[in-house]
Amino acid sequence: MRIAIYNNDIDNSNAIKQSLCALLVENNLIIDNEKPDIVITVGGDGTLLGAFKHYVDRIDDIRFVGLHTGHLGFYTDWLSSELVELVMSLKHDNGQRVTYPLLDMTVIYNTNEAKHFLALNEAAIKQPMGTLVADIFLGDKLFERFRGDGIAVATPSGSTAYNKANGGAVLHPKLSAIQMSEIASINNRVFRTLGSPLVVPEGQKIIVKPKSDNFLVMYDQSDIKDASISELRFQVAKKQVHFAAYRHVDFWQRVHRAFINDIDN
Ligand code: NAP
Repeated sequence: MRIAIYNNDIDNSNAIKQSLCALLVENNLIIDNEKPDIVITVGGDGTLLGAFKHYVDRIDDIRFVGLHTGHLGFYTDWLSSELVELVMSLKHDNGQRVTYPLLDMTVIYNTNEAKHFLALNEAAIKQPMGTLVADIFLGDKLFERFRGDGIAVATPSGSTAYNKANGGAVLHPKLSAIQMSEIASINNRVFRTLGSPLVVPEGQKIIVKPKSDNFLVMYDQSDIKDASISELRFQVAKKQVHFAAYRHVDFWQRVHRAFINDIDN
């Protein structure tokens, strides 16, 4: 089994990476950052987003393991105090995994050229200056004309990130669906959108045709600024992301720990 370590650039993560490397070598595990079977991220959920982007072309062949340098997160099951336990789990790995849905974003340009992107958390279309105007189609039928700051389309595992800040629902990652949420829509007697987040099942498309210029397309930690984009299509991706499941952390417990815990204490 070949293992890669992908860390964020803070001193603590670098130090943990060194200790982890030493332990892996001591236990005869192979470190291979080019063609790994397992990618261990050291940092936070944001670091896992970075690793996802880095290894996206090999996503079918990889399982991720998230090691958090702070609190446990949504993609991170291990703490830096648990390096030995983690290495023992890797040594006794039997291919156990959990799989989450991904977002497929197809960007269509004025030339009809199409490019596909995969997102682990979400994609968003935002207008930094002025108002985004966009026609939104569900399937091939016009559903609404949106006016406002933007819209986001999230995966279930990304539903606890930007989507949640937009008033979206938290979706269990076993659901194969995507969720569109509005970012500060204008709703008055003249302009009208649904005003609620929408959950769309696998097999259905959300199509967004921007009518204004100067919009920005974001997906996870990346962005595209290109006035020649004519259309964006979103659907549950055919590909999925895999995590090595050495321990079971209940999704609702993660949600509780991340958002409610402080109130308990
Ligand atoms: P980042 O540092 O990668 O992420 C920003 C924060 O979101 C971090 O605290 C990160 O946790 C947390 N996070 C990431 N994925 C999450 C998930 N699935 N559930 C709950 N929290 C999650 O920042 P960035 O470089 O700008 O990355 C872009 C991400 O930021 C996007 O995917 C988007 O979801 C999020 N974002 C959120 C808002 C908002 O909430 N208003 C606005 C824009 C973007 P860690 O501390 O563990 O890394």
